[in-house]
Order: sequence, then C-alpha cells, then structure tokens
Amino acid sequence: MGRAGWDDEYDVVVAGSGAGAMAGALAAAAGGLRTAVLEKTGLLGGTSAYSGAAIWLPGTRVQERAGLGDSTEGARTYLRALLGDDEEERREAFLETAPELVDFLEKDPAVEFRFQAFPDYFDAPGRLDMGRSFVPVELSAERLGELAALVRPPVDRDRAGRGHAASGPLAQGRALIGRLLLAITATGAGEIRTRTALTDLVLEDGRVTGVAAETADGPVRLRARRGVLLAAGGFESSTALRAERGVPGGAGWTMAPDGANTGDAIEAAVRIGASTGLLDQAWFCPGLLGPDGRPAFTLGFRGGLVVDASGRRFANESLPYDRMGRRMAAAQGPFHLVWDSRADGLPAISVPPLRAEDQLASGAWVQADALPELAEMTGLPADALAATVERFNGFAAKGADEDFHRGEDAYDLYFSGGGPCVVPVDRPPYLAARVVLSDLGTKGGLRADADARVLTGSGRPVPGLYAAGNTSASFTGPVYPGPGVPIGSAMAFAYRAVQDIRR
Ligand code: FAD
Repeated sequence: MGRAGWDDEYDVVVAGSGAGAMAGALAAAAGGLRTAVLEKTGLLGGTSAYSGAAIWLPGTRVQERAGLGDSTEGARTYLRALLGDDEEERREAFLETAPELVDFLEKDPAVEFRFQAFPDYFDAPGRLDMGRSFVPVELSAERLGELAALVRPPVDRDRAGRGHAASGPLAQGRALIGRLLLAITATGAGEIRTRTALTDLVLEDGRVTGVAAETADGPVRLRARRGVLLAAGGFESSTALRAERGVPGGAGWTMAPDGANTGDAIEAAVRIGASTGLLDQAWFCPGLLGPDGRPAFTLGFRGGLVVDASGRRFANESLPYDRMGRRMAAAQGPFHLVWDSRADGLPAISVPPLRAEDQLASGAWVQADALPELAEMTGLPADALAATVERFNGFAAKGADEDFHRGEDAYDLYFSGGGPCVVPVDRPPYLAARVVLSDLGTKGGLRADADARVLTGSGRPVPGLYAAGNTSASFTGPVYPGPGVPIGSAMAFAYRAVQDIRR
C-alpha cells in the first residue's frame, strides 16, 4: 500500500464504463491525465453497450456532413419548447459542448459517426422530422483485437451468458464502447479495471480525493489527484431503491444488464452530503416479455393495439416509447398487445428480437382463432375486448384514430413506412402478448451543475466530484426529447467534467 493508504494513484478516477464514462475517460487520458476506469462487472459498456447508440448531440459536423440543416439554434428552440425555462444553464452548456465534443471525438482515428434518420419525439418548434441523432460506424472485431472480449455482448446473448457471436463487426452500442475503448487504450494514459466496484468516496478536508472499491482480491483505495467522475448508471436494478423512490415498473423489467446498476455511486455521494433530484423518473418504454420472463424494449408499433386491464385502449400505441411508457404508468395493467395474422410476425421492433415460434411455445404469447378465446387466455373481459377491436377496426376503415390520433405524427409514420398505423385486427388467428412497463434506466440521481460538478443540499459543488449519465439527475426532467438524449447528454456532461478538472 502506498502513501496515505492508497493502493494506486491516478489523476482521474471514473466509475462506470457506459458511454459517458468512456467519453470522459478518453477526454482525460487524451489530455495526458492518468485515468482509471472502474467497472463493477467483468464487461464494459453497461446499458450503453446494449443500446442502439443513437446520439443526440445537435449542431455538429455530423449533421453538417449529412446536409441536415441542423443547428444549435434549432435544437435550442426545440428544447426550450419542451422544457420551458427549466435548467437553462445546463441546457446551454449541453448545446455549447455538443459541436466541440464531436470535433474532439472524431479527431481520434478510432472514432467515427454517421447520421441515421430517427425522428425527434415531440411535435414542437425546432423538431426535425428525420431527427438529428447519429450513430457510431460499425467496428470490426479484428481492429479491436483482444479488447473485443471486454465489450458487453448484445442483450439476448448477454442474458443467456453466450458471449459475443464468433464473427461479425461490433454494431451500435458495442461499436461506440469499442471505439472509445480503442481510443482510450491508444492514449497510453488510461487504465481499465474491470470487476472493480466503487463502494465509497474518500473525503479529505471537504474534497473528494479518491475512492474505495471492492475487487476480486478484496477492497482497494484509489487516489484521484484531480477528480472523480461518477458515471455508473442509475438504480434501475435495485428493487428497494425503486420502491423507496416510487419509480414505476420494476427491477426485473428494466433493460439494464442484470444486477449491475444498483445506484452504488449515487448512494456513495449521498453519504458524503451530495443532493439528488428527479428520483422517481426513468427513461421509460414498453417491454414485451420473452420466454425467460425478461422484457424486450419494444418500439415503432406499426400494427396491433394495446389494451389495459379493462380491455380498452388508453393511448396511441405508436407514441415514442417513453411517452407510451408514461401512459402505461398512469393506466391500469396488466397490458396486452393484440394483433392478428395480417402482420408478418410482431408489428413492432423489439430489442432483443422475439421469434414468434419461441414466444408461442413458451406461452409468452398466446394465439386463438376467435377473440373470446383470446380474451379467456389472457384474462381480458371478452365483451370489452370485442368492442375495442370493433371500434379500432372502424377507425382503420376511416383512416382516422378518433380516440388517440395514432398515425397523425411524423414519428408514427416513420415506423409505418408512411403507410397507415391503424391497421385492422380482423384476420385470425389473433395473437396477444403481455406488455410491461420497462425502462432504459432511471434518470434521477445526483444534482450537478453545468460543469457536472456534484452539488450539496445548499447548492455548493463538492470539490473533486463530478457526475454524468444516469448517475446524475437529467437536465431534461421528465421529458425524453429525442433519440440519443440519454447517451448524448451523458457524453456531453462527462466531457464538461473533464474540462473543469483540467482547468
Ligand atoms: P450504463 O451504460 O448502464 O453504464 C453504467 C456502468 O456502470 C455499467 O457498466 C455498470 O456495470 C457500472 N457500474 C454500476 N455500479 C458500479 C460501481 N459501483 N462501480 C463501478 N461500476 C459500476 N440511449 C440513447 O441515447 N440512444 C439509443 O439509441 C439508445 N438505445 C437503447 C437501446 C436499448 C436496447 C437500451 C436497453 C437502451 C437504449 N438507450 C439508448 C438508453 C441508454 O443506453 C442508457 O440510458 C444509457 O446508456 C445509460 O448510460 P449510463 O452510463 O448512465 O449507464
């Protein structure tokens, strides 16, 4: 053990290895700061690795390359329309940082992005119908070499403990984490420490000077000369914390990797006086249960209808997923998706993909030749279900959803390929799937300022302590403005934290 009881010394210690953590670690290491990335599990990337890795960083060179006509001003108009005067300072900091961050990242030979259409989530001034988010370019496993084994595999393979596919490039979230990992490694100043879980923060004379962590070989104390960045996800996988804070859904229904994100970093900071906000909030989504009882994030409904416990529709099923999740939270479940043989498989996108044969064989989906039979199998009131489907089919014939206006928004139409979203459900066999309120992570956590400095209850920064991603309370409050906001904002504030550390 070294001086003052430290096992190792760094300039910057980053807890977590999602998109925010890795972007922050790269900024620190590329700036010559000796940086450690601490990851609780044996794999890097967390929920970020499972993700589509859409990144909502507006007004950057990526949108410019795509000839999108995006601008910081357009995004400002959009965010202001959604968030009002709330969080003006952090919103401005985010907008100001986005172009600089993308310049910094793309300067690195390991990092490359491309625009991918995906509409913003609200019909508000400043919206771009094709969206403004972008994704990482796929990365060949060969280029990553041995490091590839460190990146968390896709969600279905990971849940089944099957590891990476033997061949093929890393895509989406894996490409993002892989690219950042490659870049960090190339700096020579970044050290990746897996199976190292932050347990506590070390406070000396009011300043955070390091962390305590648990490793396979026992506890360690790691000094952070310049700062500690907490980017270790939210508390979505903690049943107790969710219940205490009133987050709808459940730890068994979150899309985060099993058991990883249990709020450790938030709790450690709270123990030394940090304050929190938005604790009942998450990035919500509908989830379809698979044979293993785990949810698949489901979006882009282009057919079928969703009913509540009473057998009635309660929302426009094609709503952007967080908005649909919030309608579910306000309605009475259990919820069911009902569709028919008109659709070729599931009339929606699910991550992981669900195969009808497996779903039906396991009983996760049921199938019947008539609606009363389907009602019996699902426990839905038969009369109400029949009436709901009849009314829905009437809307399909008219081409207008008079109850919930499905198919009227650019987002709905994007996923229906411009065709109708209200498609009749009248061609047996009928199918039903249980839909649960899932989430992509909680979004409440440590209160932080525009430089990601963690704040005490009296609003003063805790010297040496920073937070980003789902460890921090999002500047977007209860709103999910568009695809890629969780990852885009995590990366932007992690980057700002490091700029502050370097000052
Ligand atoms: P994570 O990415 O979950 O990272 C947290 C890491 O910290 C984990 O690796 C965890 O093991 C580790 N950790 C936890 N506790 C400790 C500890 N005590 N010590 C050390 N390490 C610890 N968002 C987008 O912006 N764009 C998308 O396209 C998108 N698509 C999605 C698709 C899917 C299928 C899913 C599931 C989510 C998607 N999301 C998307 C949401 C997004 O992935 C997450 O909200 C975001 O990645 C969370 O980032 P994070 O860094 O806060 O947490």
